[in-house]
Amino acid sequence: MSTSSPTISATSSATSGDATSKGRIKIVHIYPREMSIYGDLGNTRCLASRLRWHGYEPVIHQHHPGNDFPTDAHLVLGGGGQDSGQARVEDDLAHNADVLRSLAADGTPMLMICGMYQLFGNAFITVEGERLPGIGILDVTTQGNAKRMVGPVVLETAFGDVVGYENHSGSTKLGPAQQPFGRVRAGMGNNGTDGTEGAVTGNVFGSYLHGPVLPANPSLADALIRLAVERALGEPFVPGRIDDELADRARTRQVRRLIG
Ligand code: GLN
Repeated sequence: MSTSSPTISATSSATSGDATSKGRIKIVHIYPREMSIYGDLGNTRCLASRLRWHGYEPVIHQHHPGNDFPTDAHLVLGGGGQDSGQARVEDDLAHNADVLRSLAADGTPMLMICGMYQLFGNAFITVEGERLPGIGILDVTTQGNAKRMVGPVVLETAFGDVVGYENHSGSTKLGPAQQPFGRVRAGMGNNGTDGTEGAVTGNVFGSYLHGPVLPANPSLADALIRLAVERALGEPFVPGRIDDELADRARTRQVRRLIG
């Protein structure tokens, strides 16, 4: 039931089978029209650029409602959106839930930001009381509130300090065994009270951090790339040389500004 051909090569030659490429990595951006605010599209662009700089060939597939989710995804990205955008993708998400769950169980790396993080959980209940069921890959439940949590964030994570920007009405609680993505050093995080931010299960990462988060946090971007490459190609990730000085300076400056 595909309505268009949403797969585009992100290489400059726009052809596949580049003899100099270390391998082809398919990034699926889920709901780029409905769920991509506060720069979240930049995460897809960042991963495509870094893959290229590392010598791999990125292929970007945009998944829109009404289509079957590609089972050959190597890396899946989702962003934030209004509550109304979340409602618009609900049916499609339910339709594709089994494919997404089996990709997640098989170790496919995924990064879900804000609204899609909430929908990868058990449910998001809007401030008006509407219940939007999630697909339960992450054991988190979110309740919308009248007061939004807005502002810059610094997290302590397995990838070092991660900086970003949050803007959500949803207050998220982790299930008893659910690991958070990070610990809040500055900002509100999942709920402003328990010091947790985001959630991680296997290779699926959920977080409230926009920015977009990946360009300023290259070690997180490369962790996703490493997972995708090793699963897709069955061989170790061989990084190229990337100059991350500007990103590192921007991140360090933000940490200093917010924490001292
Ligand atoms: N609608 C959700 C909330 O406000 C998600 C917001 C977002 O994705 N930025 O909690």
